Amino acid sequence: MQRLLYISLCMAVLLFGTGCDPKKQPDASDAGKYRVVTTTGMITDIVKNVGGDRVEVIGLMGPGVDPHLYKPSAGDVQKLNSASLIFYNGLHLESKMGDVLAKMSGNTKTIAVTSAVDRSLLLTPPEFDGQYDPHLWFDVTLWMKAVGTVRDALGEFDPDNTLTYWTNAQRYFAKLSELHQYVQTQAERVPAEKRVLVTAHDAFNYFGKAYGFEVRGLQGISTATEAGIADVQKLATFIAERRIPAIFVESSVSSRSLEAVKAAVKSKGFDVKIGGELFSDAMGNQGTPESTYIGMVRHNIDTIVNALIGKSSAHTSSTTGY
Ligand SMILES: [Zn+2]
Repeated sequence: MQRLLYISLCMAVLLFGTGCDPKKQPDASDAGKYRVVTTTGMITDIVKNVGGDRVEVIGLMGPGVDPHLYKPSAGDVQKLNSASLIFYNGLHLESKMGDVLAKMSGNTKTIAVTSAVDRSLLLTPPEFDGQYDPHLWFDVTLWMKAVGTVRDALGEFDPDNTLTYWTNAQRYFAKLSELHQYVQTQAERVPAEKRVLVTAHDAFNYFGKAYGFEVRGLQGISTATEAGIADVQKLATFIAERRIPAIFVESSVSSRSLEAVKAAVKSKGFDVKIGGELFSDAMGNQGTPESTYIGMVRHNIDTIVNALIGKSSAHTSSTTGY
């Protein structure tokens, strides 16, 4: 019915000579949906939750893909060209996509989901050349602001369904509030002095600030610069001196450098274990609980807590529950 209305509306507009946006024209194959292209999995998940069955979402970056290094292919440019709306993280997360996204913004609405977040809430680590840290999805309350930005943009593009987007967003907000509580409760199980999170790269500064962890990453904010021997030694000294029981690899970053840290710690007479794999800049494989934002955040906190308080980290996941 909605589709018929839409077609009638388009025809009326055509008759009066003002044209109709071809990108919004319903396609027979997707039953009147409009196409949204996204960069990271976390953003794809927001659009799925808020857009529901009104949108066809195409996410460019799958499981294990590092957004700092990701270069768009010719196929990606085609997908971006076919989009009615494009959502990306911004804050230089997709640093190799800057030119392509800038070109797209001329004729397609291209929106950074972080654009409405109050700049005073963003972190500016000194080692990131004074730029904002882009990894704000690990403070669930900040990511809720990104959800609001997606909701508003979908409503602006497709005003007839504003109520649907608001309803969907409200439902998602409720789940995210619950998630925030869960992470807080789990974090509190780790004694304050043991709340130290060492990972392959600095993706967890917002997590640390929100949930009370001291955070160290081997590779800095972006994975574009490799860690050197001095970085490995410095981190190993820190781990051995503080007797940190576990460090964590990430699904989108090679584990090689953290293995080097583990070996360097051992040479200092202390054993640190690899506490498990965290999902930092990409979500898990399709069909697993970690293929959703909520699942990845739950997996991360469960893995971190279990490893730091000394429980076995093998096969920890949100499905194990508490
Ligand atoms: Zn990152």
